[in-house]
Amino acid sequence: MIVGVLIELTNKKLDRVFDYKVSDDLSQQIKLGIRVEVPFNHRVLEGFVLTIKKASDVDNLKEIIKVVDEDIVLNEELLELGKILQKKTLATLISCYQAMLPKALKAKKKAIVNKKFDVYYRLNSLVESNYNKTQQLLINEFKNQELVSKEKLQKISASSLKTLIKKNILIEELKEHYRLTYDEKSSNIKELTKQQLEVVSQVDLNHCDTYLLYGVTGSGKTEVYIKLIDKVLQENKTAIMLVPEISLTPQMVNRFQEVFGSEIAALHSALSDGEKYDEWRRINRGEVKIVIGARSAIFAPLTNIGIIIIDEEHSDSYKQDHNPRYDAKEIAIIRSKRANCPVIMGSATPSLESFARCSKNVYKLLTLKERINGKKLPEVELIDMNQEVKKGNSYFSENLTTAIDQNLKKGEQTILLLNRRGYASFVTCKNCGYTIKCPQCDITLTYHKSSNVLRCHYCGYATNLPKVCPECKEEAISSLGTGTERIEEELKNKFSHARVLRMDYDTTSKKGMHAKMIQSFKNNEYDILLGTQIVAKGLDFENVTLVGVINADTSLNIPDFRSSETTFSLLSQVAGRSGRSSKSGRVIIQTFNPNHYAILFAKNHDYEGFYKKEMAIRYQLKYSPYYYLCYIKISSKDYNEASKEANKIKRCLEKNLSEDIILGPSPATIFKLNNIYRYGIIIKYKKDKNLYDILNKLIKHYQSNNYITLDIDFNPNHF
Ligand code: ADP
Ligand code: ZN
Repeated sequence: MIVGVLIELTNKKLDRVFDYKVSDDLSQQIKLGIRVEVPFNHRVLEGFVLTIKKASDVDNLKEIIKVVDEDIVLNEELLELGKILQKKTLATLISCYQAMLPKALKAKKKAIVNKKFDVYYRLNSLVESNYNKTQQLLINEFKNQELVSKEKLQKISASSLKTLIKKNILIEELKEHYRLTYDEKSSNIKELTKQQLEVVSQVDLNHCDTYLLYGVTGSGKTEVYIKLIDKVLQENKTAIMLVPEISLTPQMVNRFQEVFGSEIAALHSALSDGEKYDEWRRINRGEVKIVIGARSAIFAPLTNIGIIIIDEEHSDSYKQDHNPRYDAKEIAIIRSKRANCPVIMGSATPSLESFARCSKNVYKLLTLKERINGKKLPEVELIDMNQEVKKGNSYFSENLTTAIDQNLKKGEQTILLLNRRGYASFVTCKNCGYTIKCPQCDITLTYHKSSNVLRCHYCGYATNLPKVCPECKEEAISSLGTGTERIEEELKNKFSHARVLRMDYDTTSKKGMHAKMIQSFKNNEYDILLGTQIVAKGLDFENVTLVGVINADTSLNIPDFRSSETTFSLLSQVAGRSGRSSKSGRVIIQTFNPNHYAILFAKNHDYEGFYKKEMAIRYQLKYSPYYYLCYIKISSKDYNEASKEANKIKRCLEKNLSEDIILGPSPATIFKLNNIYRYGIIIKYKKDKNLYDILNKLIKHYQSNNYITLDIDFNPNHF
């Protein structure tokens, strides 16, 4: 038997199948999609078996060393999906397969994650013996059950246990146990409202259509998802539910667990590698019916899929921003076609692309126009910070201060959003204006007050806060910008009795912290929840009646054609956290651009107004969804080489893609990253007639060039 193995190395030149012989004793275990260990250039590597055949054109084949798993890792569907993914992203095939798997199951010789076992004992009925008193006690444990756990027996006597094992009277048995457990079902599906039922009835579960569920915040989308999944389960089919990492809150998982119990598996970044490994194998063995997870859960090895749901579909987290740069929404549609099942994408602020597809009947539109409680969306007030700054209020306007104060007195809770995208606290010299940047990446370092270090959020470079300015040598270094820590301090000064909970990347990075914080805020242990984008999504607290946005503008100022859309959707989402139960809510947005359309439409909860305006702009500027975009990044350690080759590539594209618009090369947003210089070329196209051919040729041309790296990103989130 000969097998073709795709090995773990990511080098483009090695991204193909290599033939190996299989010895007779291993051939029984060989299946397509299984992992094997092979010799490769004096090393031992892992790889996936992609082909099985009788003969090879190559002489002197080496033999595979061993088969790594009992079960196949890549089933037939995933094997095929990997090839599609490779064609769409132009990444290496091996990176496509690796992206589908949890760390423990990637082909990687060095990644070792073990199964977890419990020790049990069985009474060996073949051995007869006379027991002393303690031994008899031990033996009695086996009267009613065949297997008894080690823990149970240790309570009696460890030494007697040892003796019995030695005498072969007790036999040790290992039983694998999964690291995570799920409670039993504890609640039913809510009785749906008329509007929710209407939506559910419009979905054809036996056809591969894509639906967009456009439902305002608090309209009960989650319960619609649950009902649809329940119907699918009754047909003995399975379901995938994707949520953005950031909103994969315990709230959502808890609700699913309440209704579906141990039929769910949850995959997200808060799990350890071992937990992910176990969850994945539960899925692969057909032990679960529903997978809830972030982006990569779209590759869950479920069979017989009956529905794929993508919540908060506008979130940019569904697109992977490193290789392979896939879009989980696109993968969902591919899988749904194979399974002949629907895809439901839900959002209160759909992406322009998806809403536009509805208007062309590519997607089917489902709407929930009202909140569950029949309440209006909260009143939104805009505060012009230009005026406030003149009065000396840099962080909290008069109105926001009063509103927080009133809420504290009423015993109601407040959420404060610090919009931090591309704008963290940085350090400058008050004397000469020098800002401290990363020596490797050309971006401003972020100041972390608690540890007193400056850190690069791109490469991790860290340095202590200098006492004097490196440029002018004055002792005038101070931290500017607004980090959550800074606002927290300000809040404590202003409202000394308020109990403030700060939630950001720093405070939630410890395992389980996120869940704990949400629970304690829900239990009213805090008055104010202060945080970054993390507080904007998916949270549902009854007692929150005030939402304040400290700085609406920072996400407007990033150099990105989607910045208005991002800002509109962020403001709408966070506003939606207010007044979700019987009490009415209000929202206060502080901004330096009170007349910006994104902010005005958000104030009026006018998604469709925003959509029309933004579409007109995209049309004029020839951006998505009117044009498809492709971004080519050319990077090199050598400054001149990067620029020279980038210009060559531009000329080649212009010659071959005469119908497309080609922009650049221009320095990437972060021109220097880790001492590497980066240029970008943007291609705007309507039809991809020759595009893939040309790009494949370019990749081939540069694959043995050690000075230049090409990165290709279709429909990029960022340039
Ligand atoms: P969305 O995701 O659309 O913002 P949610 O799904 O979080 O809204 O629902 C908002 C609130 O309404 C939640 O507290 C939820 O439990 C409640 N809810 C949803 N559907 C119903 C229903 N049919 N009956 C009663 N309460 C419901
Ligand atoms: Zn850096």
